[in-house]
Amino acid sequence: MRLLLVEDDADLAEVMLKALSDVGFVTDHASTGEDGQYFAETGQYAAMILDIGLPDVDGLTVLMRLRKTGLKTPILLLTARSGWRDRVTGLRAGADDYLGKPFEPEELLARIDALIRRSSGQTDPVIAVDDLHIDLSARSVSRLGRTVALTASEFRVLACLAVNRGKVLSKIDLAEQMWQEETDRDLNTVEVLIGRLRKKVGASAIQTRRGHGYVIP
Ligand code: CA
Repeated sequence: MRLLLVEDDADLAEVMLKALSDVGFVTDHASTGEDGQYFAETGQYAAMILDIGLPDVDGLTVLMRLRKTGLKTPILLLTARSGWRDRVTGLRAGADDYLGKPFEPEELLARIDALIRRSSGQTDPVIAVDDLHIDLSARSVSRLGRTVALTASEFRVLACLAVNRGKVLSKIDLAEQMWQEETDRDLNTVEVLIGRLRKKVGASAIQTRRGHGYVIP
């Protein structure tokens, strides 16, 4: 799943990008408020991490502008530990969660997972699809109680479809959620991944809508 990180502190951004990439997120990074707003308005993101203190427009302003345009992407604000006023303002302006600096990457990951889950209408981290259990927090899959060994890419495709259950995702949609822009992936790779997944999780779990894409019904 693709995320957006708006953070001007290069060192902190690097740590966060690494932690997010380690668990399979593809993250676009903007280091100014204007760039962040542009990315958010033009891209498709499962969630956005937005720092308040930015060099040009502050994060709260970016947040308010984005919510005004009707953007529904879940937004987690990064605030100073003592910034309770910012947090209150942020939550009232449409932020979904906040995290005070400094924080442990583990907590960031847990909060992002929870945000994505809630935005897809899931309260339980485990999505059940017939005899398949997809655990978004543990990043594991089991079928009839047995663990299914998936590669990181296979899990990401499956998680994307599961979180967007009922919605048809095209190969382009899936590729965008899977890889950074600069990695020029052939859309056939998506097809190959889906084929491998079906062998592991059962052919009926993922359906093809010819000419449109794939869906977990
Ligand atoms: Ca900052």
